[in-house]
Amino acid sequence: MIATTAAAIGAAFGLYFTNTKKKSRPAGSSVAVAESGRKYLIGGNWKCNGTVDANAARCKIFNAAGPIPSNVEVVLCVPFVHIGMVLESLRADIAVGAQNCGLNNACGAYTGEVGSHQLKDIGCTWVIIGHSERREGFGMAGEPVDLCADKCKVALDNGMKVMFCIGEKKEERESGVTMKVCAAQLAPLAKKLTIADYENISIAYEPVWAIGTGLTATPQMAQDTHAEIRKWISENISPDVASKIRIQYGGSMKGANAKDLLAMPDIDGGLIGGASLDADFFNIVAAAPN
Ligand code: PEP
Repeated sequence: MIATTAAAIGAAFGLYFTNTKKKSRPAGSSVAVAESGRKYLIGGNWKCNGTVDANAARCKIFNAAGPIPSNVEVVLCVPFVHIGMVLESLRADIAVGAQNCGLNNACGAYTGEVGSHQLKDIGCTWVIIGHSERREGFGMAGEPVDLCADKCKVALDNGMKVMFCIGEKKEERESGVTMKVCAAQLAPLAKKLTIADYENISIAYEPVWAIGTGLTATPQMAQDTHAEIRKWISENISPDVASKIRIQYGGSMKGANAKDLLAMPDIDGGLIGGASLDADFFNIVAAAPN
């Protein structure tokens, strides 16, 4: 009985260590931004969803989904605790990312944090920084603009790629300050990052009022804001960065509306919450123009 229990515990820990040790996994579909054009970036954000079993089942669904077009890069940002399992079980042409990381640049006394160097070490490629839910704080202190930019710089310095989220709330759009809000979220980046850093960043424009609400910005509304963001980057960072950087749209994107959004000239992909939890995610992947 004791031996059986010990074996069960050993097996459980064996599984645990298998799932969390450093991975040597092909690098997914990541590529540098091509000089000739911007490759679509479709990111999934599973948020704080799923058990080991439920998220393993999601991996199986995506493994069986169709091929990823060569002009599309796909990344799934999963809960920290499932990163090891997803890295082991998800097809290698989908990169695996996290949804946040610490400000710390190295190991140490940072209870509860996960460092970007640790994400890199386990085989993660991408990390989402500055998601509006984290900026707001869901009952805890939210993350101010400078903190988001500082985290972004540390993550980049540690070799991660960053999806950096910006976007306005409903009342801000209604009072006509959308671009002012986006500019205030981008300005600390412009101060802290080098030009070379922008090769590893995508901006995710996510109007807060469209996240998880079923409300989507119309393709034209999204395009107009994306164009303004690109103009701001051109004027405040560099025209070359502006022409190369990818700007994803996020906010209730799904298979049914992705084609029209992705057809817009300044929309270079999506960051998808709800619809990344099931097979509809691949309808979005397939909706990118070729
Ligand atoms: C998100 O969380 O980044 C998001 C865009 O969520 P949803 O697609 O569910 O609106």
